Amino acid sequence: MLYTSEALEILIDKLSQLPSIGRKTAQRLALFIMKLPKEEVKSLAEALIAVKEKVKNCSICSNFTDEDPCLICSSPKRDPNTICVVEEPNDVIAIEKTNEYNGLYHVLGGSLSPLDGIGPEDLKIRELLQRINESTKEIILALNPNVEGEATTIYLSKLIKPLGVKVTRIARGIPVGGDLEFIDEATLSRAIEGRVQI
Ligand code: ZN
Repeated sequence: MLYTSEALEILIDKLSQLPSIGRKTAQRLALFIMKLPKEEVKSLAEALIAVKEKVKNCSICSNFTDEDPCLICSSPKRDPNTICVVEEPNDVIAIEKTNEYNGLYHVLGGSLSPLDGIGPEDLKIRELLQRINESTKEIILALNPNVEGEATTIYLSKLIKPLGVKVTRIARGIPVGGDLEFIDEATLSRAIEGRVQI
């Protein structure tokens, strides 16, 4: 144990398990939390518990939501006949920020990755196919520009095209190997606008 407080050590341990938080950052965060007024620490702890208790997956698009269906699926202002397929909820946020898209979404929950043992049955693919009907105009595949995203794009287009629905993918030109959520809004906006049929 590095600290003379077991409680502090446990907090640092827990924080360092978060993605992109190394031990040093965890120590800094823990010391910052220590210095906060008790009320603020309490509301931080409550916020952590609330996301587990209140947030669920939308039964239509699988995005995170407090209400089911989510605000996007239940909005009368959205075009219900266009569905943009993404990997994770963060991608929905990235695309929403561009203000370029007015259809619905479908969150797969990841991408095909045989090396990690992630196959079609681990993603919300069956649920996507069930959403496609005769009024569906377009399925936009907006998966991450990496090997797994590419494999998933090809797999989905082969499944969906025989249903007689237009399938497009967002334009290349977004950096290969990157994550949609880290692409700037202008680039992502151009990628959606310049989407191509496959
Ligand atoms: Zn939804």
